[in-house]
Order: sequence, then C-alpha cells, then structure tokens
Amino acid sequence: PLTEPEDDAALLRRRDAALADVQEHYWSAPPRIERGWGVHLVESRGRVLLDMVNNVTAIGHAHPAVTAAVARQLGLLNTNSRFHYRAITDLATTLAGLLPDPLDRVLLVNSGSEAVDLAIRVAHAATGRTGIVAVGEAYHGWTLASDAVSTSIADNPNAIGTRPDWVHVVDAPNAYRGRHRDAEARRYGPEAAAAIRALPSPPAAFLAEPFFGNAGGVPLPDGYLREVYSAVRERGGLAIADEVQVGLGRLGRWFWGFEQQGVVPDVVTVAKSLGNGFPVGAVITTADVARRFGSEGSFFSSTGGSPVSSVAASTVLRVLREEGLQERARVVGDRLRTALEGLAARHGIIGAVHGAGLYLGVELVRDRATRTPATVEAAAICDRLLTRGVVVQPTGDHKNVLKIKPPLVLPEDAADFFVAQLDEVLATGW
Ligand code: PMP
Repeated sequence: PLTEPEDDAALLRRRDAALADVQEHYWSAPPRIERGWGVHLVESRGRVLLDMVNNVTAIGHAHPAVTAAVARQLGLLNTNSRFHYRAITDLATTLAGLLPDPLDRVLLVNSGSEAVDLAIRVAHAATGRTGIVAVGEAYHGWTLASDAVSTSIADNPNAIGTRPDWVHVVDAPNAYRGRHRDAEARRYGPEAAAAIRALPSPPAAFLAEPFFGNAGGVPLPDGYLREVYSAVRERGGLAIADEVQVGLGRLGRWFWGFEQQGVVPDVVTVAKSLGNGFPVGAVITTADVARRFGSEGSFFSSTGGSPVSSVAASTVLRVLREEGLQERARVVGDRLRTALEGLAARHGIIGAVHGAGLYLGVELVRDRATRTPATVEAAAICDRLLTRGVVVQPTGDHKNVLKIKPPLVLPEDAADFFVAQLDEVLATGW
C-alpha cells in the first residue's frame, strides 16, 4: 500500500517539527511522494505526476538495472573504500574513458558538493595557492568550500558581499539577464580574462559550470571559456568545469558541457545523475595534477567509491549508453524546445527559452523590453502546473526561470503533455 496509517497532513506536521527548516519545499501543500517510475512520481493518494525537474534520476526513477546491481552488490560486499576490489576500478576506467585526454585520473566522493570541495582542494594543493575565481549567479554546493564559490543571490541576497577573501567573483556570463546582454555578451570573456590577469596574486583556479545550469540552462557566450581558461593558465592556475548538473549526456549534442565551448578543463566534477539518486560523485583530473595533489598527502573517503556506489554509477553509465539517452535528450529536447518557442510566440510572459537537449529554461518576465523577472508569477505557475500533474520548479537569481531537466527517458508524448499544460496555464491564468 502506498499510504501508511498516518495521514499525509499528520506526516507533514511531524516532518516540520523534526527537520530543521533548511530544505526547499516549493509548495505550501507539498504532495507526498512515495514512488517513482521512469519520468513519473506517484503521490501517496495514487495520483501520477510528470516529473520535469529531476536531473538526478537521469535514467528514470527506480530503474530496474540499478536496483538489481545495487541489491546484488549489497549482498556481496560493501566496505570502506580502502580495499582492493574491482567495482571502483571499473568505474574509474569507464569515467576516464568518457573524458578527453589528458583527463584520466579519478577521485571518488559521495555528492556534488564534495566533488566541488575536493576540486578546490586539488587546485589549492597542486598550485600552492588559494585564490579561486568564480562567476556570479552560481551554485556549487553546501560544504564550506563549495558554498564559498556559490554566488547565487536566490537564497542569500548578500551572497556576493560575503564571499571569503580567497574567492574572486567575475560577472555572471548571462547573455539574457546579466550586465551585458545579447550580442554585447561577447564582452564577458575578455573582461573576465582581464580581471584574472589583473589579480594581485595568481589564482589557483577558475571554476564555473561550462553551460550555465543555475541560470536556467543559458549557454556561455561563444569563446568565453577559451578566453578565461587561457588567462587562468597563463598565470599557472587550473580550469575547473563543474559538470554536476549539465554533464553526462543531458545536453544532447554534447556529452559534456565543456565540449560546447570547445575547451578541455584540467579538473571536472560530476555527481547527481552519476548515481541516478544513489550518492556518488567524482573528480577527474590529469595525471600531472593528481601527482601534485598526492604529494600533499593522501585522499580518503570511507564511502566515496564504495563497492555499492561504484556499481550504481557504472550501471548508470552503461544504461545511458545502451538506451541511447544522450541521443534521446537531443531528439526530445529539440522537440520540446521548438514547442516552447511556439508558446513564447503566443504568451508575452515568456521572455526567452534557454538551453539545449533536456536542460532547458523558460525565462518568465513581466515585460520583454525591460526583462523584469516574473518571480511571483513563476511560483504561481509551478503551483498551477502541480494541480495539473506536472512537477516543475524555478531557478536563477530571481527564481523566474522554469527549469526543465526531466529524466532523459522522457517520451515524446510526455513532452507534448507538459507543453500543453503550460500553454493552458498561461492562457487561463494562475
Ligand atoms: N554543482 C552544481 C552545478 C550543482 O547544481 C549542485 C547541486 N544543485 C552541486 C554542485 C552540489 O551537488 P550536491 O547537491 O550533490 O551536493
């Protein structure tokens, strides 16, 4: 049975009394969700919701291959990762094989925050410096170091002014809403490069999402990472690409976000969809950087790369390949994007449709000329969509961009259903 004897409202009260108020809950009356399957979430009262937001479960909720592999491995061995076993080596080999040369050394952790935190430590140790250059409107995690480079003002209006002194923030390279817009966005790259060249002491690294997920799937301006990576490398620093949200095939045309920019970073972070919800993350770097990091002492995480998490991740990577999910993200993503652009032609509140593959953003504005963010409207539209059985949530500094990043198994008819529901909500009011 999906429903426990305790009713949903009583459970909600008990939750609010027991959990610190740190989670986003999005809805005043959140649905109680006890099952997932493919692109669907199932409420305790049996209603099926279309999940348009879960980029963690990239291969679909409750994928049987992951369930079987994890259950089998749990019954065989799950230990701290100090031992010699095959699963960790298989995962590291597969990950290295998915990245271009010379990225072939893997460190395994449990989450995206840990991966970013470790990438920063790697850069510190490899360069003997502390400075990290980050971009505005970014989110990279909750640990001290990953939070320090998180500049989004969505949840913390003072984010920029309160960064520690080792973090240098350059403009959010957001071509729709940032300081430079549209064609002027080509100025972000040279300006960030100049800022890096002008830093009083050379930085350890530049760190950014290579495709701007937190801003709602906004591509970086052409040439941006080439210019910025050159500047940081000229000064002996490293280029870190945070692929936690956008990597692993979701962008359709590109397996990694950095491919869209025509660059190869020195350090890459992955997590989220790597385990399809099972906690596993990774940092991949070059042999040279790994050696410089290793000389500072060894890295150890009890459960990072455990037999079970390694098997979960290897299974996800195999399913991504066998089910052709990158290609699916391209085909269904193109269809979705075209349909959303059609909506934009009819609904003035849609200022722009961002993104690629199945990482799309529908940016809502009160006025197309001023691009005033439609924040309250975005929240209300998400609420209305929920009543129609669609789960979608806002992102960006102003929480006015509907982030569309469903499991990659999204069928065409489900994509069409989502667009039809959004169309009706926009037409009938919220
Ligand atoms: N980096 C990026 C780009 C992210 O979007 C996130 C999570 N939203 C993280 C890092 C942190 O990942 P986690 O929540 O797994 O710690």
